[in-house]
Amino acid sequence: MTLEEKLALLSDSAKYDVSCASSGGKSPSSLPAGVCHSFTSDGRCVSLLKILLTNHCIYDCAYCINRASMDRPKAKFSPEEIASLTIEFYRRNYIEGLFLSSGIFKSPDETMQEIILTLELLRHTHQFKGYIHAKIIPGSSSELIHKLYRLADRVSSNIELPTSRSLALLAPQKEKSDVLSPFLLLQKNQSLSTPKASTQMIIGASPESDAEILATSEALYSRRLLSRVYYSAFTPTTHDSRLPLITSPQTLLQREHRLYQADWLLRFYGFNARELFSTTRLNLGLDFDPKTLWALENLHLFPLDPHYAPKEMLLRVPGIGVKSTLALLRARRFGRLYESDLKRLGISLKKARYFLALQGKPLSPFKLEESRLRQELRSLSKTPLVRPTLFDFYHLNPALSGEL
Ligand code: SF4
Repeated sequence: MTLEEKLALLSDSAKYDVSCASSGGKSPSSLPAGVCHSFTSDGRCVSLLKILLTNHCIYDCAYCINRASMDRPKAKFSPEEIASLTIEFYRRNYIEGLFLSSGIFKSPDETMQEIILTLELLRHTHQFKGYIHAKIIPGSSSELIHKLYRLADRVSSNIELPTSRSLALLAPQKEKSDVLSPFLLLQKNQSLSTPKASTQMIIGASPESDAEILATSEALYSRRLLSRVYYSAFTPTTHDSRLPLITSPQTLLQREHRLYQADWLLRFYGFNARELFSTTRLNLGLDFDPKTLWALENLHLFPLDPHYAPKEMLLRVPGIGVKSTLALLRARRFGRLYESDLKRLGISLKKARYFLALQGKPLSPFKLEESRLRQELRSLSKTPLVRPTLFDFYHLNPALSGEL
């Protein structure tokens, strides 16, 4: 197989991994295969060469296109090939970094050693200063995990399935502890404010509710084991009777989008996962974004006067984001605010007006009543019908926009 053929195959095989916040696996037509856009932990948009070291794998996870039993061409790069491809693309300004993952060939440790060798070639032989996101191979030794961590800007270990029971059903060779232990191990090395590890969960390949998925994310965030959980709507690429039949891929994409919104609420808006669900509703629902849904189910707390409401409550008003909350807190110190001021501060009054009052007067044109309000807000809370593009990721990234 030529290098170009390997690149086409091993970049295509890498596209299902979203744990680098990439915009997708397809390169712009002007660029070679494998070049995609991604966000770094500080919100910078970078172009990466996103590839696998190999799509050979000794494991047979039911949902994976690279599984051992998959009848598909297999290939493997050598560390030297990846290093020279990366350097060549970097010098031509095609990329600013590398995302390197892999199937598990021979053993977890042997795979990790080759990934590390690739990174050592880049960092030490070629003096590569670009961004590197590398995958931790589950089950590899702690010594190798530490080595990888020192060479990469970001590492990830994919949980894939939110509960042990689904892992046992769909990926029986993987142990939950193998996936989680690298995070525990690295926690000691990571600065408390910005752990440089992330993970991915597949949505819809197993029956867990959104409540269970977000409880897993919340547990990881609250223990500061990682900085990001990425959600990936299940894309059937294999035939396996253990997998569900996906009748509406669009619905799954909408669900993925809602999970990203809820994840933002956990990390930046002071919500906890339990608040977003009830005993009778264990999924986020597609009609409303999770913050709007929460507000609709807690109408007794509104309307709020933005002059006096505490920061925690302002963040809960649909249409008021993190940036506009901070701007509002500053502005209200200097005197009375009017509707025009709220707009100027970046508040989306289309939504927020139903939940605010100024000088004792609600801004809502009608009395707050749940069914009427649901009708009004439904159209403002629509989910996109496609996976977010780079543009949407830009707007979903609070480091860049801050609004939900
Ligand atoms: S271990 Fe990873 S690459 Fe191998 S089959 Fe499972 S998900 Fe796919």
